[in-house]
Amino acid sequence: MAGERTKSWTVGDVTITRIYELQDQTDCSFLLPDATDEMVRKHAWLRPHFVTPEGKIIVWFQAFVVTFGNRRIMVDTCVGNDKVREFELFTKTRTSFLEDLAAIGCPPESIDTVLCTHLHLDHVGWNTRLENGRWVPTFPNARYLFGRAEWEYWKTVLPEESIRPQHLIDSVVPILDAGLADFVESDHRVAEELWLEPTPGHTPGHVSVHIASGGQHAIISGDIFHHPFQFAEPDLPSAFCIQAQQACQTRRAFLSRYEGRKALLIGSHFPDPTVGWIVRDTRNWRFSTD
Ligand SMILES: [Zn+2]
Repeated sequence: MAGERTKSWTVGDVTITRIYELQDQTDCSFLLPDATDEMVRKHAWLRPHFVTPEGKIIVWFQAFVVTFGNRRIMVDTCVGNDKVREFELFTKTRTSFLEDLAAIGCPPESIDTVLCTHLHLDHVGWNTRLENGRWVPTFPNARYLFGRAEWEYWKTVLPEESIRPQHLIDSVVPILDAGLADFVESDHRVAEELWLEPTPGHTPGHVSVHIASGGQHAIISGDIFHHPFQFAEPDLPSAFCIQAQQACQTRRAFLSRYEGRKALLIGSHFPDPTVGWIVRDTRNWRFSTD
């Protein structure tokens, strides 16, 4: 990987630190079925950070710890160790995620809030960890905030084997059973400095996380974007969006709303340098890390 496992940014009095878990390099068409390698090649600004010399797109899996005052808020919890998933990349991983968290001064017991932008397997994994053959909450002193609309959707598909809800069974249901879950509205304000913004489509209750302090703003986008390529091609449906058309509308509206320097964009799946600005380009928008 290029870049550090942990890296911090400040927004006023707030510090945001990413915890890297793992990465993948893949053909663009795996994520965006209608995209071609040629379309990716056209956007020179994607190199070298976001596309390999061979033209594969690079996707990172990372969590963000947001700290201010005495708050320690974890945004998304990656894939997690020891889980069994449909994809080999995510199966029985053994990463140093918890050690890295401790190394930045935020051991699991210090986290007071866990937020999941949505309930896909790569955003809920570290909600739990394996202890004596049981999935137990990784963050025992935290309230876990799940979107009410998001849970309403997943609850209905939970019994459907075809949708492979194993990640809900091992990474969400144990949190409910432990009494640590709170269901919140899609515009819920967690603190003066941090609130949710509804950005539906990728999943029905998907949210982004807005951070503001000292007149500065940042947004952890979640999976509105899987890759900065989507700034230039916001209308291409993604293979993993549940409501693809709504996701495209949300993406376009978000890019328009925050273009320029209105908010620092923190891309949940963007490789290092991970953060940047949405700027207008000849074709729609591009991601500027300057
Ligand atoms: Zn994701």
